[in-house]
Amino acid sequence: MNTLFWDRETETLTRPRLEQLQLARLQETVRRAALRVPFYQRALAEIGLKPDEVRSLADVQRLPLTTSDDLRSQYPAGLLAVPPDEPVRLHTSSGTTGKPKAIFFSKKDIDNAGELMARSLVATGVTRQDVFQNMMSYGLFTGGLMMHYGAEKIGCLVIPSGPGNSERQLMLMQDFGTTAAHILPSYALYFAGFLEQRGVDARRDLAWRKAFVGAEPYTEETREKIQQALGLKVFNSYGLTEMNGPGVAFECSHQCGMHLWEDHFLLEILDPKTGAPLPEGQCGELVLTTLQREAMPILRYRTRDITRLLPGPCPCGRTHRRVDRITGRSDDMLIVRGVNIFPQQIERVLMAHPQIGRNYVIVLEGLDDLTVQVELAPAAFDGNVEHVADLQHQLTEKLKAELWVRPTVNLVPAGSMPVAEGKARRVIDKRSL
Ligand code: ADP
Ligand code: ZN
Repeated sequence: MNTLFWDRETETLTRPRLEQLQLARLQETVRRAALRVPFYQRALAEIGLKPDEVRSLADVQRLPLTTSDDLRSQYPAGLLAVPPDEPVRLHTSSGTTGKPKAIFFSKKDIDNAGELMARSLVATGVTRQDVFQNMMSYGLFTGGLMMHYGAEKIGCLVIPSGPGNSERQLMLMQDFGTTAAHILPSYALYFAGFLEQRGVDARRDLAWRKAFVGAEPYTEETREKIQQALGLKVFNSYGLTEMNGPGVAFECSHQCGMHLWEDHFLLEILDPKTGAPLPEGQCGELVLTTLQREAMPILRYRTRDITRLLPGPCPCGRTHRRVDRITGRSDDMLIVRGVNIFPQQIERVLMAHPQIGRNYVIVLEGLDDLTVQVELAPAAFDGNVEHVADLQHQLTEKLKAELWVRPTVNLVPAGSMPVAEGKARRVIDKRSL
């Protein structure tokens, strides 16, 4: 396979060279944080660590962790490392309650975010010939804008369609020959159903061949479902506002885990309970330190995202290590009747079933009653109520075997459940209300 690179030299640095670069940038980041950010000044003083005591990459473990609550406590501008008139952009990360997390970018930071996006897209085979439809929200959410810059840097024709309005999305795809698109997994599933209803066969009628899918956790089964329905390749895309947005880690054309761009982010996988570093292959919390951020450096940020480092080199030749699909956030776990359940377990069972459609929600209410409401596949409903009852029974048993808790399965017609424009809300927990 002809592997394309955006920045071949950086992407294929030998490990010793890459680590040398990381160390120099880590030292500089800690120095700047200690000098310019009172929050870090205090945190370092508390543990009695001087910036020049960071002498090896392993010393990162001596640095204080930063949590999302820390970011909130420093809202709006407590973590700025540059004079207040220096940043050129503000983004926020939602958070469901209270103040959001505010993230500032300098000109250079925005440019770097675009570079990482361009690097990521080219790794999947995107070229300037591509017509790139960006079906993600623009605005305070980083997903839309950052991906946009990357595709534009490459020289693609970028269509900033934003999310929703499937009718118009389809028209743009047909009229301008979209070949690549950035889309949420929940919307991709919905859009596949929409095309089916319109009698559009994506393989035959559209030029769309690549989808960059992220911002929400999704399973391998969901990837497969999207690929099959749309006749394209789905590349997993990972990022978070606190670390620039998308372009932190991205799958290359081999689709075997996401290269995490280690010249910009120092990664650790820690046991979320004890904070102990975990070896390659073991699942834990991804913790990231910015290595090149000017406006707002962040040390050891606890992403709460659960993943693991994948062993071995990638056939593409990139030396930046790969992380596995994010299986969820450490705080996603539901406790139902004393049993630990991750929403992804439910999604896996649903998406692997051919008669099950593409939209679902998990509802918890009363005294730990678990209901899974899910759409049928369009072709699954033949008007025979017995068949539906049968399917309901089958699914209940499958979920029970996976979860050890018996759910109520509620099957509804294809297309009958609402679709969010932004990230899908898959769990509604009414128990604590
Ligand atoms: P918010 O916190 O408001 O949702 P962000 O866009 O910053 O806004 O969300 C980042 C989070 O989205 C990540 O921490 C992670 O939990 C999730 N996420 C992003 N990309 C992926 C992906 N490819 N797979 C799984 N989860 C993802
Ligand atoms: Zn690769």
